[in-house]
Amino acid sequence: MEWFETPAAVSAWSDAQHRAGRTIGFVPTMGYLHDGHASLMRLLRPNVDRLLVSIYVNPKQFAAHEDLDTYPRDLDHDRAVCAAAGVDAIFAPTGSLYPPGYETSVKATRLSTVLDGEHRPHFFEGVATVCTRLFGITRADYAAFGEKDYQQLVILRRVVEDLALPVRIVPGPLVRARDGLALSSRNAYLSDAERLRARSLYRALQRLAVSVEAGGTDVAALVNDARRRLDVDQLDYLALVDPDTLEPMDTVDRPARALVAGWVGRTRLLDNLAVHPPGSEVR
Ligand code: AMP
Repeated sequence: MEWFETPAAVSAWSDAQHRAGRTIGFVPTMGYLHDGHASLMRLLRPNVDRLLVSIYVNPKQFAAHEDLDTYPRDLDHDRAVCAAAGVDAIFAPTGSLYPPGYETSVKATRLSTVLDGEHRPHFFEGVATVCTRLFGITRADYAAFGEKDYQQLVILRRVVEDLALPVRIVPGPLVRARDGLALSSRNAYLSDAERLRARSLYRALQRLAVSVEAGGTDVAALVNDARRRLDVDQLDYLALVDPDTLEPMDTVDRPARALVAGWVGRTRLLDNLAVHPPGSEVR
């Protein structure tokens, strides 16, 4: 496996791959890799000639009070996960990813301000900006993103289409632990007791999905009912939205996405699930 620490080094490698006629698949991450990340590598691996993973904890997507300094890190473990998934190269910048004088920002105007954007106002601008720069540096042909971060996936699709970026976004299904909790690097923060309570996010989403499959259509009633399954210290939102635009829905008369975010102790957790009314096409 090759290991690059500067944008120039990885760009030179990518250019050489393209000159040789090879395609590049790319999985951007913040490290502390788990099977959710590995699933994206496995998804791309058979479909690309070279597979690149980046490991970068992007300061632009953390607010001052958030966990930038304590975000878990373990590069030796990350290297082993990548090797097992058949990764060809890792880009792990040692310094800043941004050149001196950097001042450009990328923002999907409405999509960045709803749901998680209401609670983390600068987050999606930071994500869209770093991903756009990473696409430029890596010249990736395909980039995989997990449905775990559903809003992020919707926003990056929008950005790539709006800016006509020469990369194809490939979505990967959300990977859960055996107890149903969505895998996340931040699960490492949870105590055993908190982890038991964290499972309630998925239970609430399942309740929503089952109620919709049974014919429930009134979103306010569905959300009120599912909320009772939650055992969190603070609920940021539990919402049923259009899966492509993230616009709120009043009535579930077509496939929808249920999204939830809440705090268990000092850990903020996200989860989401596809929801299908009876007879609608599963997507
Ligand atoms: P992160 O390191 O948290 O920035 O995540 C990097 C990529 O892995 C993003 O595209 C995430 O959506 C994806 N990812 C993280 N957790 C999971 C999961 N449990 N299932 C699927 N993809 C995931």
